[in-house]
Amino acid sequence: MTTGVVMFSGGVESVATLEWVVNNMAFDKVVCVTNTWKDMEISGSRKLNPNLQKICDYYDVPLRVYDYTDPLGDLHFEDGFDRTNYTHSSNHWLLTAMQIASRYPEIKDFMWGVNCGLKTHGDDKGDYPFLPRSWQWTLIFDNYVHNKGKDGGQRLYPPASHLTKLQMWGIIPDEVKPLVQSCGFPLAWDGQSPCGKCNKCNEFNSMFIGE
Ligand SMILES: [Zn+2]
Repeated sequence: MTTGVVMFSGGVESVATLEWVVNNMAFDKVVCVTNTWKDMEISGSRKLNPNLQKICDYYDVPLRVYDYTDPLGDLHFEDGFDRTNYTHSSNHWLLTAMQIASRYPEIKDFMWGVNCGLKTHGDDKGDYPFLPRSWQWTLIFDNYVHNKGKDGGQRLYPPASHLTKLQMWGIIPDEVKPLVQSCGFPLAWDGQSPCGKCNKCNEFNSMFIGE
């Protein structure tokens, strides 16, 4: 039985990736995985966005949550060293994918979604371009999963990466679109409260310009 794991944030790219994977890739089973980093003061995943379960219900795929906490706890307060309050979300996703790959060697295919960076978005150009990051992720994943043993065939793919963000938005079913939230710094973690200012919000709002 083949299983595909979709790294799932509930934003445009990961929802479009799920849509793509379900309709175009021949897995026997698809599983969505998200992660929460509750101790990160600045993070889009401090709490679980309830829309993720609703979207997974629509596609009839299970949702699993990888829940991270800081093993050093409050030591950084007591012992005079600081903990950063921000880690780029790509680190969260990559670490989660690698953890699952290590624990489940029979799962070969991991998918994540990004756009191609063909559209500029606001003043902040964000963290793209996409391709260098995709390659970095491929190398990191491959090294982590395989470098201490034989290649077990596990791969991290960006299967919808040939689409622009607007094209990804276009393949998302209309009944799912209201559940999609791209914001990296939501005002509330209810899937309905984008900040309207962050680069992900700017990217989302500006992708329709020139349409
Ligand atoms: Zn935002």
